Amino acid sequence: MEMGSYLREIEGKLSNDPFYTEKISGGGGGGGGGMRRVWVPGPVIVGAGPSGLAAAACLKQRGVPSMLLERSNCIASLWQLKTYDRLRLHLPKQFCELPFMGFPGDFPTYPSKQQFVKYLEDYAERFDIRPRFNEMVAEAEYDRTLGFWRVRSKRGGCHGDETEYVCRWLIVATGENAEAVVPEFDGMTEFGGSIKHTSLYKSGEEFRGKKVLVVGCGNSGMEVCLDLCEHSASPSLVVRDTVHVLPREMLGRSTFGLSMWLLKWFPIRLVDGFLLMVSRLMLGDTARFGLDRPIMGPLRLKNLSGKTPVLDVGTLAKIKTGHIKIRPSIKRLKRQAVEFVDGRIERFDSIILATGYRSNVPSWLKEGEMFGKKDGLPRRPFPNGWKGENGLYAVGFTKRGLLGASMDAKRIAEDIERCWKAEAKLSTPTTLSPPST
Ligand SMILES: Cc1cc2nc3c(=O)[nH]c(=O)nc-3n(C[C@H](O)[C@H](O)[C@H](O)COP(=O)(O)OP(=O)(O)OC[C@H]3O[C@@H](n4cnc5c(N)ncnc54)[C@H](O)[C@@H]3O)c2cc1C
Repeated sequence: MEMGSYLREIEGKLSNDPFYTEKISGGGGGGGGGMRRVWVPGPVIVGAGPSGLAAAACLKQRGVPSMLLERSNCIASLWQLKTYDRLRLHLPKQFCELPFMGFPGDFPTYPSKQQFVKYLEDYAERFDIRPRFNEMVAEAEYDRTLGFWRVRSKRGGCHGDETEYVCRWLIVATGENAEAVVPEFDGMTEFGGSIKHTSLYKSGEEFRGKKVLVVGCGNSGMEVCLDLCEHSASPSLVVRDTVHVLPREMLGRSTFGLSMWLLKWFPIRLVDGFLLMVSRLMLGDTARFGLDRPIMGPLRLKNLSGKTPVLDVGTLAKIKTGHIKIRPSIKRLKRQAVEFVDGRIERFDSIILATGYRSNVPSWLKEGEMFGKKDGLPRRPFPNGWKGENGLYAVGFTKRGLLGASMDAKRIAEDIERCWKAEAKLSTPTTLSPPST
C-alpha cells in the first residue's frame, strides 16, 4: 500500500482506539510468535525510574499522554531491587524532589530507601502513571521514511513476544546506572570465595566474621564497608584513585545545601577552598589514612568529570581506628587470597565490587548523534544534553542526580507540549503529513 494512504488508514483507526494495535505476521519475533505494532499518540518513555516518572508527570500536567516502558516488574527498580538495606538518600530530601510533589513533612532529612520508594509509588499514583512492566526495549530507531520512532520491546522471559511501538517522540530514561560495571581480574575464576557487585549486596549479615575485600571507594563502597563493620565482618577497602571525602554536614547544614548556597555568592574555586578547609578541620588529613585528595577541588571536579565526592556517614572514623583497612589495586586473585600491586598477599573470604554502573543506551538506541557510543551519555554538556534530533530526548543523564532529572523532565515536557499543541487541531499523530522523503 502507498505510504500516504497507509497512514490515513491508521489515522482512521486511531480515532477509535488511541493505542491502535496491529498484528504483524512473521515480524521477527524469533521464537515463532508474531510481532504487534502499537501506535502511540504521545511520547514513548523508556525506563520507569525517577526520571521516567518525572517526565511522564510533567507531560501529563501539560495534557500530553505518554507510554512508559519498563524492563523490570516495578517502578524504580534500581532502588527496589539493586540497593542495600541501609541505603538512605545521600542528599537532603528537598534536593531530591520530583516536580510538583514534595516529600511528606514527617520524612527525615535523609529518607530511607523504603521511604523514597513509597514517595515514588505515591507520585506514580498521584499522576496516574501506569508503566507497561516487563517490557525490555531491545532496539529503537528513527524511521526517516515514516517520520516516526520504531521502538521494539521484548516481553521478559516470554520467547518470541515482541512489540513495536511507533511514536513521534522518544524519551530515554534508562539512567546512568542501567548496568553494573564488573571489572576483570587475573585469576577471577580461580578465587574460591564469593564475588558480588554492590547491586546484589543487601546487608553485612551474611558476612559476619568474614574477611571481605571491598573494591571501589565511592559512596557505595564506603557505606558497604561501614555496614560490614556493624555486622562484625572485617572489611578492607581497595582505593585505586584519589577521592574527596567530605562530612555530610558542616556548620549545622548539609554540605550539599551549603555548597549550593555559597555558589550563589562566590566563585567555585573559593567555595571548593572553603569546603576543603572545613573538611580538614572536621575530618583531619585524609591522605594520612590512605585517601589522597585529587588536585582539583570537589565541586570543580564534579562539574568537569561528574565524579561525585564521598559524603561521609561514619566510615572515616572506622578507617582511622583501623577497623577498615586501606589496600592498593589488586594484581591478581588466588584460590583463597588476593595479591595486591604492592606485593602483599592476604586471605579473603569474599569480594564486593563497588565499581559502579554505566548507561546501556548504545546497546539499544540506534542513532549516532546525541549519545556517546562509549559511555552512553549525551555528548552535549549540561544543561544542553536533554534534546536531540527528530523528537529524541534524554532525562536523567546530567550527573546531577534527581535535581538534574527534574530539570530535564520540565524542559522536555515544555518542548513536546509546543509540538503537541501545534498538532492538537488534528486528532492523531498520524495526521502529520506523510513523509516527504
Ligand atoms: C546507591 C545510590 C544512591 C543514590 N542516591 C542518590 C541521592 O541521594 N540523591 C540523588 O539525587 N541521586 C542519587 N543517586 C543517583 C540515582 O541515579 C538517582 O537517584 C536515580 O535513581 C536516577 O533515576 P533514573 O530514573 O534516571 O535511573 P534509574 O533509577 O536507574 O531508572 C532507570 C530505569 O530504566 C529501566 N531500564 C533500563 N534499561 C531499560 C530498557 N532497555 N528497557 C526498559 N527499561 C529499561 C531500569 O530497569 C530502571 O527502572 C543514587 C544512586 C545510587 C546507585
